[in-house]
Amino acid sequence: ATMPPLLSAIANAGRHGVLVKSAVVMERLGQVDAVALDKTGTLTAGIPHVTDIQPLAGSRLHEDTLLALAAAAEHPSEHPLGRAVVDAARLRDLDIPTATDFTAAPGLGVSATIDGTRIAVGSPARLLDGLTGQLTEGAEAAAVLESAGRTAVLVTVDGTPVGVLGIADRVRPDAVGTVRGLAALTGRPPVLVTGDNPRAAAQLAAVVGISDVRAGLLPPDKVTAVREWESTGRKVMVVGDGVNDAPALAAAHTGIAMGRVGSDLALETADMVVVRDELAAIPTVMALSRRSRKLVT
Ligand code: ADP
Ligand code: MG
Repeated sequence: ATMPPLLSAIANAGRHGVLVKSAVVMERLGQVDAVALDKTGTLTAGIPHVTDIQPLAGSRLHEDTLLALAAAAEHPSEHPLGRAVVDAARLRDLDIPTATDFTAAPGLGVSATIDGTRIAVGSPARLLDGLTGQLTEGAEAAAVLESAGRTAVLVTVDGTPVGVLGIADRVRPDAVGTVRGLAALTGRPPVLVTGDNPRAAAQLAAVVGISDVRAGLLPPDKVTAVREWESTGRKVMVVGDGVNDAPALAAAHTGIAMGRVGSDLALETADMVVVRDELAAIPTVMALSRRSRKLVT
């Protein structure tokens, strides 16, 4: 017997390394006419590495001490930035202190207690909000790194900024082609939605050919952006990888998660998973869906 078109499209998607969770999802993909792409882990490879370790002058910390403190707080984190910090400390063979009371705030950062002091590592813009003292030095150090396209994370001890880390990730080799392919299929260029800073976001957007950039978004902000587009009648596809993307993946007409680097929550929430880690499979599978829809109707 010949397979129904949607089922053979799903099988075909599987051959391209994309797991489609249902026939309904496969069919809906063909209706998508607007695309929102996450930055870190989606347009970039999701294997960031620490490039800069900068204690603030007032902190009197050694580079290695700063990195070890940050790594202690990031140790339980499943965020790619957290893994980058821990890996950097391991590469330097540093002793990573044991931390307790770990908390992670999606889109913001992490904090944990070491020897009775509270260490926080996260977004400079958010952590500096409402802080005084060494504020200027921390903000300036972060801005310099961000202008160079880095993600800057601030480290604070009991609320006082002590240092800044610069983190960089590689653009996926198929990002440019994917952006172009999605634009051709939907008739409108994809939009970048990211929790990262506006400077690093603009740099990456220029490289991959995106002009509409929404940066500094918290997870609910990504949902608001999707809802706004959908309220004007668009059928929005969101592609993301993080815990921070999960609400937007759920709110979107179609949610796609990046499998290899993606968090468990993103993979569970998404309608499809790019298992083989090739971004370019997304426009390919979208075209498959459209073809099968033509056969169905
Ligand atoms: P994106 O949307 O680009 O994938 P996220 O929403 O995951 O980014 O993170 C947004 C920002 O929050 C990061 O650029 C960083 O400043 C901060 N952040 C989030 N998680 C962490 C973490 N584990 N360690 C340090 N900073 C973090
Ligand atoms: Mg991400």
